[in-house]
Amino acid sequence: MSFADKLKKFTNDAVEKGKGLAEQGKLSLENQKQLDAIKHAQQLIGAYVAENNLLAEDEYVMSQLSAIAAANEIMEKNSSRIAELKAAGAAAAEQAEDAIDEAISEAESAAKSVEEAVQRAFCPECGKEVDPGSRFCPSCGKPLV
Ligand SMILES: [Zn+2]
Repeated sequence: MSFADKLKKFTNDAVEKGKGLAEQGKLSLENQKQLDAIKHAQQLIGAYVAENNLLAEDEYVMSQLSAIAAANEIMEKNSSRIAELKAAGAAAAEQAEDAIDEAISEAESAAKSVEEAVQRAFCPECGKEVDPGSRFCPSCGKPLV
């Protein structure tokens, strides 16, 4: 076989192999979809049997139904506990928000007091408070710089 023929054969083999792999993937995906459809149908049958109280004399069905009932009971308990916790969480969050607002407002008023204190001026002679920018103390007459 010539080199060109070998190359052609190699290429054709690779293409065939690729097609085979693509078909395998497609078929696997199709089987997965069918399996999902079967599971879904089985679930519907199960629900139908349970809701219509069919096969009520069957021990296996009864044991599965009581397992479902027990699971439902647990889920209901959990759901109401979740609702309680959510409500408590919301209340706690609201309290925390109020506390933060209060702290912010206290900090703001403290900052305002500091700002005001910094702006106040006192006479170095008699210690009385004087208006900032005054040239003389109104109490003792000391010149202020
Ligand atoms: Zn003074």
